[in-house]
Amino acid sequence: MENIVRILDIQEVTHDVKCFRFEKPKGYKFIPGQATDVSINQPHWKEEIRPFTFTSLNTDDYLEFTIKRYSDHHAVTD
Ligand SMILES: Cc1cc2nc3c(=O)[nH]c(=O)nc-3n(C[C@H](O)[C@H](O)[C@H](O)COP(=O)(O)OP(=O)(O)OC[C@H]3O[C@@H](n4cnc5c(N)ncnc54)[C@H](O)[C@@H]3O)c2cc1C
Repeated sequence: MENIVRILDIQEVTHDVKCFRFEKPKGYKFIPGQATDVSINQPHWKEEIRPFTFTSLNTDDYLEFTIKRYSDHHAVTD
């Protein structure tokens, strides 16, 4: 099932790692440690799907991913 969610907050963790918080769709549940497929909802990026692991809890009212950026080439994490 596809969900389109907005970014709520971005925190810098290190020079190349950021923590992204997103809206959580109502009733959304996941298994801790589980990853999901993510893409950026913009032309040219929507089909570029990459897996990321939830770093939030089911009890949180947001979804969170902690993502390392590869800036050596212009791909999704960059
Ligand atoms: C199950 C699972 C869970 C994951 N969870 C997380 C997570 O929670 N957080 C996280 O940060 N990552 C996670 N990853 C890794 C994450 O999916 C990748 O870092 C991401 O897909 C990279 O996407 P990209 O488009 O930026 O890079 P891609 O283009 O997919 O490249 C990935 C790697 O290949 C190298 N590379 C590829 N092409 C080139 C090129 N032309 N020139 C130079 N280098 C190149 C990049 O340097 C990088 O090391 C997870 C992966 C899996 C499989």
